Amino acid sequence: MRAKEVRQKFFDFFRANQHVIVPSAPMVLKNDPTLMFTNAGMNQFKDIFLGNHKPEHLRVANAQKCLRVSGKHNDLEEVGRDSYHHTMFEMLGNWSFGDYFKEKAIDLAWTFLTRELGIDKSRLYATIFEGDDTDKLARDDEAATAWAKYLPEKHIINGSKKDNFWEMGDTGPCGPCSEIHIDLRDEYQRKSQPGYELVNKDHPEVIEIWNLVFIQYNRKADGTLIPLPQKHIDTGMGFERLCRVLQGKKSNYDTDIFQPVIRQISSISGVEYGASDETDIAMRVIADHIRTIAFSITDGQLPSNNKAGYVIRRILRRAVRYGYTFLNMNRPFMSGLLPALIETMGEAYPELKAQQELIDKVIYEEEESFLKTLETGITLLNRIIEDMLGKNYKVVSGKVAFELYDTYGFPLDLTELILSEKGLVVNRQEFEKEMNAQKARARNAASVETGDWIQLKEDDQEEFVGYDYFETDVYITRYRQI
Ligand code: ATP
Ligand code: MG
Ligand code: MG
Ligand code: MG
Repeated sequence: MRAKEVRQKFFDFFRANQHVIVPSAPMVLKNDPTLMFTNAGMNQFKDIFLGNHKPEHLRVANAQKCLRVSGKHNDLEEVGRDSYHHTMFEMLGNWSFGDYFKEKAIDLAWTFLTRELGIDKSRLYATIFEGDDTDKLARDDEAATAWAKYLPEKHIINGSKKDNFWEMGDTGPCGPCSEIHIDLRDEYQRKSQPGYELVNKDHPEVIEIWNLVFIQYNRKADGTLIPLPQKHIDTGMGFERLCRVLQGKKSNYDTDIFQPVIRQISSISGVEYGASDETDIAMRVIADHIRTIAFSITDGQLPSNNKAGYVIRRILRRAVRYGYTFLNMNRPFMSGLLPALIETMGEAYPELKAQQELIDKVIYEEEESFLKTLETGITLLNRIIEDMLGKNYKVVSGKVAFELYDTYGFPLDLTELILSEKGLVVNRQEFEKEMNAQKARARNAASVETGDWIQLKEDDQEEFVGYDYFETDVYITRYRQI
């Protein structure tokens, strides 16, 4: 089943069940001081859950463009390394605002997956909230009973507050959730180890697909919970994961959502997908990031030097660096992926085609100027290498590495990689000292951050997002501070 048919089936099914299909909200949020990017389908309905808005329809469903690169949900480091986390992804969701509740939500999800889509029931597991002493909450037996109509006992798994209790913030609407996981391993593997042992264990083939949230409490400022007069349903399912399941693939990147783009990267770089882990990761990162960048631009967010724009710039540069380092792409290539992206996403999101020229131009210019910076940095680095070798020194000063990073956008591991080819290393302690000093300076400076890191505001808290490094297995160098 092709991706676009999957999306359509979801809409058709929920429409047939009296849901109104609503458009995706923008992925880049302009007027929300607490959130920079939409990270879940429910974001646009926040005010309904808070009781500030009356819902126009009691049942709605949609496909929402989400981005998880900051704050509470930051999946950037997983992207490309695993097969099922993206920066940008589509979340399919259905909502009930004070209308149907737990049992019906479970019935709908089950019917859609097993009857509409024909997914093998024996592969499915449901997690339910096990209860919590501090909150004086019992196990969510209501959900367990609803699942027991469909699933054997062993496929209904207790989950902790961390995984199975959703809260909007420190206060406000909250409630238990129930997640559907699927075991995609082959029969032999499934026989040798039961799937329930692998649920929620980051197993690449036993993955979460759908989260059903039962919003039934309000957390007050003193931490206590009171039942809500109106109970709501909020669900979210990863579209790319669902397509992978239905297309019988081992990875989201093997579906028709990503393959045309990956083929295009392969044709531009002359590197085959599958040639090595390192080049595969690079290709997946690029295939992922081009979506984020193109969709941000259609939402009116161009790469820039602060806030959301800086996050987008970092993601673009990250893709360029992966291409540069692992696929020998030293000419702008990202905008060359747009036709393939439009081929896969253009029908569902016509704004891509409508703004193709602008996206193309913005990406090309960004890339060109960043590549120049990279090249200037490399020339400088070569001079340093010559000097070091001439003097028979082995350790490059951390200050120099920091300058390369700070001024020329060179991540430390790229510097180290180039140096290692000549038998040189960086004084990392010194580098970290410089980095920390820079962090302190930026914390003190009120506005624009131009280093390769950024502090984002989310949920009213400053949160450090992480440095922009390569995170491949080969060159792991983490300087995350939090
Ligand atoms: P995971 O545990 O796999 O990180 P999650 O629990 O963080 O997922 P939810 O917040 O419950 O995810 O979001 C609802 C659904 O959206 C998930 O069940 C999953 O199918 C999908 N999803 C979440 N994060 C991503 C991502 N980074 N890329 C693709 N799909 C995702
Ligand atoms: Mg997650
Ligand atoms: Mg999860
Ligand atoms: Mg979840």
